[in-house]
Amino acid sequence: FTISKPTNDPFLGYMPGSSEREELKAELERQSNQIVKIPLIIGGQAIYTDKTIKVTMPHDHSHVIAECCIAGEKELKMAVDSALAAKEEWESMPWEHRSAIFLKAADHITNSYRPVLNASTMLGQSKTVFQAEIDIAELADFLRFGVWSAQEIFKDQPSSSAGIWNRQDYRPLDGFICAITPFNFTSIGGNLATAPAIMGNVAVWKPSRTAVLSNYYYMKLLMWCGLPAGVINFVPCTGSDMSQYVVSHPKMAGFHFTGSTAVFQNVWKQVGENIASYANYPRLVGETGGKDFIFAHSSADIEPLATAIVRGSFEYQGQKCSACSRAFIPASIWPQVETLLKAHTAALKVGDVQEFDTFMGAVIDQASFETCKEYIDRAAVSPDCEFVAGGAYDDSKGWFVQPTIIRCKTPTYESMVKEIFGPIVSIYVYEDDKLDETLSICDSASPYALTGAIFAQDRQAIVKMEKALRNASGNFYINDKCTGAVVGQQPFGGARASGTNDKAGTTLNMIRWVSAHSVKEAF
Ligand code: GLU
Repeated sequence: FTISKPTNDPFLGYMPGSSEREELKAELERQSNQIVKIPLIIGGQAIYTDKTIKVTMPHDHSHVIAECCIAGEKELKMAVDSALAAKEEWESMPWEHRSAIFLKAADHITNSYRPVLNASTMLGQSKTVFQAEIDIAELADFLRFGVWSAQEIFKDQPSSSAGIWNRQDYRPLDGFICAITPFNFTSIGGNLATAPAIMGNVAVWKPSRTAVLSNYYYMKLLMWCGLPAGVINFVPCTGSDMSQYVVSHPKMAGFHFTGSTAVFQNVWKQVGENIASYANYPRLVGETGGKDFIFAHSSADIEPLATAIVRGSFEYQGQKCSACSRAFIPASIWPQVETLLKAHTAALKVGDVQEFDTFMGAVIDQASFETCKEYIDRAAVSPDCEFVAGGAYDDSKGWFVQPTIIRCKTPTYESMVKEIFGPIVSIYVYEDDKLDETLSICDSASPYALTGAIFAQDRQAIVKMEKALRNASGNFYINDKCTGAVVGQQPFGGARASGTNDKAGTTLNMIRWVSAHSVKEAF
């Protein structure tokens, strides 16, 4: 049988008075008035440990919404054993029955479970209603496109000839997958654990501590939809325990990661240093840091450019890997761009994400707040910098950083080249006749290459800029913001220090989770 190519999950509008808005408000109320005890889930069993952490709302950091159990050595070893014990039965389950579990979960996300995931994403990760909605819609997309991609991989078969039948068996990897996932997208957390499972693998999943509530609800959904015990084992834990007891295991056959460049490089080193101890060469798939750019030409349309900078830099507090964090603007159009940036930024509402007209919530935690604060404090006293907007922060109730635009006199000032992961964008205004040099700085000043956008109306300029910046990103936008990649439309991933670029939600990613077995039979 075949399944047709999926379409993207539609976004709901949450207009005042709509049923989805009322339902979500009730769910927000329910979730903000309880403290969920989050267990580990190992071999399908909820396991409660003595060691726990409190989960609070970033925009109201004394408000506890969950208490999460933390796995230690014993539980992590159990998780690996459970995954390996579930492997044989899971991989021999007919593909269509494995797929049905994930398609069923996607349908529940579309039709009934959305308020639970949206509310936990809003409260736990401080997402506005729109940001949560696009995140959860993406989770359903990852499931449907994942299953469809698996089918596309399996049907690709070698040619045969008279008396000979050649076939390719796409085996799951010979071991288990380790998934370590980020806070910024509930969908990415889900997908990193699920994509390998769609291909028939078993996994040990360390969710981010700051996304653990929404990730736990997703794990419960999978189980409710029939995911067999042990296929995915949910184990919040410390990074060092994960590396010591899971990453080091000889049967770790794949590693699926989104997070910092430093962590991914450390795992790569750990695997490299111990390579002979693994049964297979582990597949290392990671999406890591970014220093994403918007580069304008003098022929750019001003209004869409300013809107793209504001939305690309400040939606979800600049905490998308794809967020714009530097921009290059020609001097000839800067005065008009600056006026619009000031006006647009001043109009943004920053605050409690439970109010549906809020544009920006708080940054994820204290460490992130401190990082933003330090960049702002240094910029405030640097002769290199001038604030176009923002430059303030307040942690009295939540981890709030105002949307901040810094104009930098030198294109290599620290905030122009280092990843901050917060609502701070740095702008370098270049002389119009220095286009080539500035393109080359944009290409080489940071080690990353995740997303980037250019704005121009002049076609010759577009051709030149696209060529000059060809290797500076994995996702490139012409006259649009550099965030908001949609599964199945703009396959997402970056190169250089931004990752292995195995585009999420596509066959390019899913194929990493199989080890092909070529079979020739002579008749
Ligand atoms: N796919 C998201 C986007 O294009 C970003 C994903 C990420 O932050 O890792 O906005």
